[in-house]
Amino acid sequence: MYQIAHFIDGKRILSNTKTLEVYNPATGEIIAHVPMADEEMIEKAVASAIAAFPKWSAITALKRSRMISHFKELLEKHINELAQLITQEHGKTLADAKGSIQRGIDVVEFSCGIPNYLKGSHSENVSTNIDMYSIRQPLGVCLGITPFNFPAMISLWMFPLAIACGNTFILKPSEKDPSVVVRIAELAIEAGIPPGVINVVQGDKVAVDLLISHPDIQAVSSVGSTPVAQHIYKTSATYGKRVQAFGGAKNHCVVMPDADLETTINAIMGAAFGSAGERCMAISVIVAVGDSLADTLIEKLIPRIHALKIGKGDEPDTEMGPLITQMHLEKVKYYVDLGLQEGAKLIVDGRDYQSKAHPNGFYMGGCLFDQVKLHMRIYQEEIFGPVLLVIRVADFDDAIQLVNDHPYGNGTAIFTRDGYIARTYANKIQVGMVGINVPIPVPAAYHSFGGWKRSMFGDITMHGTESISFYTKLKTITQHWSQTQAHSEFIMPTH
Ligand code: NAD
Repeated sequence: MYQIAHFIDGKRILSNTKTLEVYNPATGEIIAHVPMADEEMIEKAVASAIAAFPKWSAITALKRSRMISHFKELLEKHINELAQLITQEHGKTLADAKGSIQRGIDVVEFSCGIPNYLKGSHSENVSTNIDMYSIRQPLGVCLGITPFNFPAMISLWMFPLAIACGNTFILKPSEKDPSVVVRIAELAIEAGIPPGVINVVQGDKVAVDLLISHPDIQAVSSVGSTPVAQHIYKTSATYGKRVQAFGGAKNHCVVMPDADLETTINAIMGAAFGSAGERCMAISVIVAVGDSLADTLIEKLIPRIHALKIGKGDEPDTEMGPLITQMHLEKVKYYVDLGLQEGAKLIVDGRDYQSKAHPNGFYMGGCLFDQVKLHMRIYQEEIFGPVLLVIRVADFDDAIQLVNDHPYGNGTAIFTRDGYIARTYANKIQVGMVGINVPIPVPAAYHSFGGWKRSMFGDITMHGTESISFYTKLKTITQHWSQTQAHSEFIMPTH
């Protein structure tokens, strides 16, 4: 059993406040306790971030970039250790944990280009002897609130770019798998990033509410479920903060009759059941165009779902690990029960899966529903588990309509061999991230991540050059240097 710390001013700090239990979901054992920050701890973190800001924002962007580059090397060197921490507290496989850290490191690498991204713009002679230029300056102390499903990756999508821009940062990880970011913050210090530039406070809703209403925090990036995203968006905006709040998802995969079936089935299996379906970009609904295609897809999926290798994330052959908590396992099983009550047809039932080796782990098998109708709660709501739904539609137009009518709009995919269909889908679909024969279209670090509709609240998406806009404020300077004396002008100046 270990004690998880906050990380403030370059040091691990334990506190005597309320603690929560942290589980190893693969065995069901309590492995650690994590303290919940109270007001005193939040003030300590904010004070540290405020104190670090003047010096950090004043050093050159190139120097910040060099430290971040060293931080990237340390993340690479420690990737196995970080992945183990994730697997131990989250349950996902080691390979998946490593892949997610790598996607985080990609953004750290992108952040190293900060001197280039902070270049402003300049217009000479906008009026006689008057030049105009725009610069981007940091905001001050920024906050990141992260969900349990990507404890390292999403943190790395936020703070490296924020600090590269000259801000200081407070990270509030999920209380379910809070260890890895403490280690990551320690590596930042080892890389030469000064104490106070990146702080971690552990906590729950109490800590979040203290932070998002704190007068000294300028901007909030948060990722979590839609009700929490809405709460964080509204409250942060009420307190005058810049805010981007990413929410839940229900991602549709449209399969056209001409799709390559083997490729499509392979893609769907990984995207629906990888990480036990606990990904905001997981495929949770197949939209099959035509009844006979739906029958074929189901027939091919059944043996694959039965054959899923379920187990502990650090065992070599495991494809799907446990769910995050007993409570979440029960919630997912409740949705399967609900689907039956609502009249959907349960083709594969994973509710009774039992691990012989780890009987107390939070496991369930994959589930597949057919005959799902649009009014059903299992379709309208996010389940966030290994439960895949099939919806049958008559044609491509119906598929587009159905996806566009859904309240969530995070990711979607289409499988087809027809370029015109693919192009039309990309053009018409009301979803933020679209895959064409790609099941989980998470944008690369130098593009930007973000959903539409109830999957994102705010205007500016995460990572890529959009993040530079989010973490800086624009200042435009107009300068006049002339040897002649100016005289009073009482009309609006024109050029
Ligand atoms: P969650 O909403 O329960 O928690 C997210 C964060 O908010 C955590 O740090 C948590 O401590 C805090 N929090 C929880 N309840 C709160 C409350 N009432 N008030 C203030 N803060 C609160 O989410 P989770 O279960 O950790 O993560 C899964 C969810 O995150 C899913 O809905 C998933 O779709 C979503 N998610 C979205 C994206 C995206 O980019 N859109 C990415 C990953 C996960």
